[in-house]
Amino acid sequence: MSDAERLKVAVVGSGPAGFYAADALLRASPPARVDLFERLPVPFGLVRYGVAPDHQSIKRVQVAFERTAALPGFRYFGNVELGRDVSTDELLRGYNAVLVATGAALDRRLEIPGENLEGSYAATAFVGWYNGHPDFVDLRFALGAERAVVVGMGNVALDVARILLHDRDELAKTDISAAALAALRDCPVREVVLLGRRGPAQAAFDQGELEAIADLPHVGVQVDGDVSFADEAELPAPARKNLAYLARLALSPPPTEPRRLRLRFLASPLEILGDGGRVRALRIGGNRLVGSGPHVRAEPTGETWELPTGLVIRSVGYRGAAVPGLPFDAKRNVIPSSAGRVTSLTGEPQPGLYCSGWIKRGPTGLVGTNKADSKETVDLLLRDAAELLRRKPSLDVDALLAERRVKVVTFEDYQRIDALEKARGSERGKVRDKQERVSDMLAAAFPRA
Ligand code: NAP
Repeated sequence: MSDAERLKVAVVGSGPAGFYAADALLRASPPARVDLFERLPVPFGLVRYGVAPDHQSIKRVQVAFERTAALPGFRYFGNVELGRDVSTDELLRGYNAVLVATGAALDRRLEIPGENLEGSYAATAFVGWYNGHPDFVDLRFALGAERAVVVGMGNVALDVARILLHDRDELAKTDISAAALAALRDCPVREVVLLGRRGPAQAAFDQGELEAIADLPHVGVQVDGDVSFADEAELPAPARKNLAYLARLALSPPPTEPRRLRLRFLASPLEILGDGGRVRALRIGGNRLVGSGPHVRAEPTGETWELPTGLVIRSVGYRGAAVPGLPFDAKRNVIPSSAGRVTSLTGEPQPGLYCSGWIKRGPTGLVGTNKADSKETVDLLLRDAAELLRRKPSLDVDALLAERRVKVVTFEDYQRIDALEKARGSERGKVRDKQERVSDMLAAAFPRA
């Protein structure tokens, strides 16, 4: 088969959605050629920078992505940013198709007074920081509080709570950032309160993730309030599992462990109160539930109270960012698409453009959810193959990047960064010691330069 009969696809974003899309394209019949573009020198997106450092088993999916990278027809273009180094239009001219999988890197705000006080942070920044992401490495977090409040009842909220409560010597063995570990060693936190605006039946976390905290030897979990639910049979299975587990915790005697996680449902943050520019308390409003099924809403009861705290972390979801040169639905923070075929905001097809992952469906689901999502997009792309092959590539993107003196990191170059991080990690008794600055990554990728 000649190259002219094989699709040449640019995939943008090297997180799970990008890698699963690349894999499906490379294993298609006939196999496509895939150039995978990534803004950072290092690949794997949220697997490297979102999955918590003490969840190394989840990070192992990286091995599957490394196998994808070894397939014939795959090329990695690290350190190449769409909109800075190359435009969407140029990629469209250089490839038969462009598949965007840039995720959802931004945070959502609570839009309440006091959010900018020192001691009030977004979980996205906190997670990026403890995972050594270059965008967050210079942030400083004031962690000098005995009680922290995490707003939100999702798996990210539980990750943040677990990292705050975890034994520091255990964390030291992971790939956590050294600066974050040092700050956590000085952090006196003894209690983390998780605040959910709706009830226990609407909690977004997975039972196993709560159990992982309850299983930590020095951490007790306490559930405040009533967790019984009248119409349990009507709930989806994960919610029933959560409720059964929460009911067990609620019946247990109060925890005596030195550190504690408390779950408080039907409570919304109203205002973060400060003293001298620093968080001192959270004003909270009680809620009741109205409506039914998945549309259950929280409505204020009018009851309010203050909870003293020096640290408030909002974990109320991620938010997708507009991608230069592509349509963007600013209400849902996604690229508008029909199952992955990009459309305009009014639904007109955008030939050659596809999307998958969080930037397609919003920030929901686990790492593996992206496999089916990317397959759905790639199936459509392959169905369009005849038409896409008629869009003959007319621009040499390799030459364009060379002309612009972009320091492209190949997968082989990345493997030098990877080897260095692992070697440094093993010297320091941890699984990996990450390079946290782009300049250090590039120095490791190009040792002779
Ligand atoms: P999420 O699952 O959507 O949870 C967001 C939480 O924030 C919900 O409890 C939501 O409550 C609450 N919330 C939203 N707006 C709020 C507001 N204004 N005030 C108070 N609470 C508010 O998002 P996430 O935790 O960021 O996780 C993102 C995705 O990654 C999820 O699919 C998650 O499962 C996945 N993930 C998985 C793992 C793991 O498997 N270990 C780890 C991390 C993340 P409502 O329900 O009332 O809206």
